[in-house]
Amino acid sequence: MEQEYPIFSYLNDEKTSSQYKAVNFKIAEANRDGSIRWRCCVCSPTIITKDDQVSKNQNDKHKSVKCVEMFPVQMECIRENEHLKHLAKTCDEFKFVDQYKLCLRRLQLKFDNRAVADFWVKEVTAKTAVAK
Ligand SMILES: [Zn+2]
Repeated sequence: MEQEYPIFSYLNDEKTSSQYKAVNFKIAEANRDGSIRWRCCVCSPTIITKDDQVSKNQNDKHKSVKCVEMFPVQMECIRENEHLKHLAKTCDEFKFVDQYKLCLRRLQLKFDNRAVADFWVKEVTAKTAVAK
């Protein structure tokens, strides 16, 4: 029951990390006209987005073998983990165990449980990251 993943989407609540065609991009520059330039996390291709849509992509070819496409379940695990960190930073009443379980439950509703287990961050690791 792999669901179709959008061609472009954000991977964190702050909208500084994204995926385009399942490859991880980070924000390079926010332009005055409201468009945003993104760069591949590993090599050089850049894309421009406006209103959450890709308006331009330059040098679409990735140069590194590290620019592998992520699995949808993998991207969603990153997104949920980033969401967890975001909540920890912004919520006064943040309860790690409750939120961790909620994220995991959302993932398990969407994906195969074993696939989720492969990519979802371990409780100890997540807790340490959040505590910083
Ligand atoms: Zn790349």
